[in-house]
Amino acid sequence: MGKVAVGLAVIGAATVCAAAALLVRHRMRSSARWVRAMAIVADLDERCGTPLAKLRQVADAMTVEMHAGLASEGGSKLKMLISYVDNLPTGNEKGLFYALDLGGTNFRVLRVQLGGKDGGIVNQEFAEVSIPQDLMVGSSDTLFDYIAAELAKFVAQEGEDFQLPPGRQRELGFTFSFPVMQTSIDSGTLIKWTKGFNIEDVVGQDVVAELTRALERQGLDMRVSALVNDTVGTLAGGRYNNKDVVAAVILGTGTNAAYVERAHAIPKWHGLLPKSGEMVINMEWGNFRSSHLPLTEYDHSLDAESLNPGEQIFEKLISGMYLGEIVRKVLCRIAEEASLFGDTVPPKLKVPFILRTPHTSAMHHDTSPDLKVVADKLRDILEITNTSLKERKLVVQLCNIVATRGARLAAAGILGILKKLGRETLKNGEDQKTVIALDGGLYEHYTEYRKCLESTLTELIGEKVSESIVIEHSNDGSGIGAAFLAASHSQYPDVEESS
Ligand code: ADP
Ligand code: MG
Repeated sequence: MGKVAVGLAVIGAATVCAAAALLVRHRMRSSARWVRAMAIVADLDERCGTPLAKLRQVADAMTVEMHAGLASEGGSKLKMLISYVDNLPTGNEKGLFYALDLGGTNFRVLRVQLGGKDGGIVNQEFAEVSIPQDLMVGSSDTLFDYIAAELAKFVAQEGEDFQLPPGRQRELGFTFSFPVMQTSIDSGTLIKWTKGFNIEDVVGQDVVAELTRALERQGLDMRVSALVNDTVGTLAGGRYNNKDVVAAVILGTGTNAAYVERAHAIPKWHGLLPKSGEMVINMEWGNFRSSHLPLTEYDHSLDAESLNPGEQIFEKLISGMYLGEIVRKVLCRIAEEASLFGDTVPPKLKVPFILRTPHTSAMHHDTSPDLKVVADKLRDILEITNTSLKERKLVVQLCNIVATRGARLAAAGILGILKKLGRETLKNGEDQKTVIALDGGLYEHYTEYRKCLESTLTELIGEKVSESIVIEHSNDGSGIGAAFLAASHSQYPDVEESS
């Protein structure tokens, strides 16, 4: 070998060595990064932990707050609002009724022809309309005029399958799923907006009056006979079909629950309510909070950046509006501190609410061996390409941690209601069924969440008791439930066929 050749060989060897050293260092760095990433995940997992003992504390706190909210106005984070619904539908109602369901990104209008005792639902039709984003933060008149105009269009399409007796006014059940201080079955003032709505001139106003004026402006002769929120509507919808329904829970963009309380157990209303009989209570449970809730730095930051800091803490842990955002926040932190997706944080990952719960749910449900759905979502939504299988698995793990915490806490909330009703145990000799109507896009579409909620409730109350407690999907019960309530609170006395 000549000198030059030896020299080249030496340089070659040195280059190989240097490259090898770089590779080792890179591997070490990437393994150190991975260790950091896993540490962040492990920390999250621990802080989001919901062992049964903790869930029982949450349930007990829920029961305590329910008592406090019923005892006095402002006595609890739970408003425990009186719904004025004291006669739930029996199934014997007869006639044509309309409903309008406003409470999120879409609103629905529907009509139903009820056949009376043994007649059931003879006919029903609905239409769904999305609410333009700018109307959600505009003025009261623009929002209500838009809604009334869509309702008028729908009424104009009423066919011969629907029959209004001559000389009668059409009646409407109005499902309005925001916190309302109800003043009667057909009036109530808006306390505050939630879920991205913010129209200042409606706060403190009677929402039925606002709607009625808009209906008049559209020339629509229709009476708003019942004002309810989606949980109360869902409860009524469930009760029409099943007399054992005692509570309803919505898990959608937001979350809320309503249940049937004995009127004498509502101290703040003593004297105003019949001492016997039932009253549906709208809990506004999204605003529940307790020191037992497993809150993390991600939740605190989400809350601080939200439209309503300090409020709706339970909702921010369990509902569809927020689960995806929590996952994004954790991913962002891992990208920053452990360079998960390369040396720079992918810009899209920094955009609040870019990752929605339907996305995290789709990733969570990915059963393909190479997690193709996860890869596609990361690419399409966050513009993160070339992810490794290991990284995709980490993403699934995050979705799982966040959804599991939400679902288990929702189950704890339901246990709180069962405890308030004294139905969390079996009573001697009683063969009592307890049915809870559930609805909402999150519950309906996020299968892992739903399964986790249901199995957690069984864990909490035990196999034996769980045989007497049924969770029933009340599909879109909130709209039709409002129509049933318009019937059971009709201005015309002959709507109910006696049994
Ligand atoms: P709203 O609560 O706005 O009245 P829905 O009850 O239909 O309406 O719930 C819609 C919410 O459900 C969405 O905001 C989303 O959070 C959640 N959701 C919808 N589809 C899915 C899905 N496939 N997986 C998980 N969550 C979903
Ligand atoms: Mg809804």
